[in-house]
Amino acid sequence: MENRSIALDGPAGAGKSTLSKRAAKHFGIIYVDTGALYRCVGLYALRRGVDSRDEPNVTKLLPEISLEMKYDNDGIQRMLLNGEDVTDEIRIPEASKYASDVSAMKSVRAFLLSMQREMAVKYDTIMDGRDIGTVVLPDAGLKIFITAEPKKRAYRRYLELLEKDPGTKLEDVEAAMLSRDKNDSEREAAPLKAADDAVILDTTELNLEESFEALCNLITERFFRHEPQVKEESKLQVL
Ligand code: C5P
Repeated sequence: MENRSIALDGPAGAGKSTLSKRAAKHFGIIYVDTGALYRCVGLYALRRGVDSRDEPNVTKLLPEISLEMKYDNDGIQRMLLNGEDVTDEIRIPEASKYASDVSAMKSVRAFLLSMQREMAVKYDTIMDGRDIGTVVLPDAGLKIFITAEPKKRAYRRYLELLEKDPGTKLEDVEAAMLSRDKNDSEREAAPLKAADDAVILDTTELNLEESFEALCNLITERFFRHEPQVKEESKLQVL
C-alpha cells in the first residue's frame, strides 16, 4: 500500500504545528506533534531537578517515563506523562529549552523513536519535527521542509507567547529561538536538516492562509491528484 505519511520538518516558529493541525483536519488524517514527546522528557527532567545537559542522569530517568498521545474531539493531541495531562505545561519556555537539550541525547532519541514510527504505521499521519524525513520516516510519501527567516519566525512565536504572557519580550523570544536552532542544527544525533528528497517550503513572505494553501497544494498534488479535493474540513477521527 502507498505510504501516505507526510513528514514535515523545520526550525522552531516556521509554522509547522499550526499548518499541520489544519492540514490534518482538512485531509482527515492524524497530526502527530513529535516535539511534544521531547518536551515531556524535558519537563520530567526539569521536575526531577536533573540538569538538562546531564546525559547520564537524564538517561537514568527514561525507564520511569511513560508517555501517551491522546486526541480530543477537536483532533487536538493531548500529552500524558505518567498519566498526567501536561499538554499546556510542556509549552513553558523552560520546557522548550530542556526539550532542545535532552533531544540531543542519543538515548532520548532512541527512547522516542518506536512510538513515532508506530503512529505512522497505524494511521495516515502528518508528523512534524526535526528529523522525521531523515530518520523517523525515511520512506514517508511526502517530505516537506518548512522554514522562514529567523526574524520572521521569532516574531510569529512572540505573538503566540504574548497571548499567554503579556510580559513576553521579543528579544528574549528571538534569543531563545536562535539558541534552540543552533542546538538542533549542530547536534550530532539526528540534526535538524532537510532530507535530500524534501520539498522546501519557505514561508517568509507568506501569511498563514498563503502558507496553508501552499502546503495543501503539495499534499493534493502528491496524494490526491486523481481524486476530488476535499472541499470541507473533514472531522478527524477520535482515537
Ligand atoms: O517542535 P517543538 O519546538 O515543540 O520541539 C521542541 C524541541 O524538541 C526542539 O527544539 C527540538 O530540539 C526537539 N525535537 C527534536 N526532534 C523532533 C521534534 C522535536 O529534536 N522530531
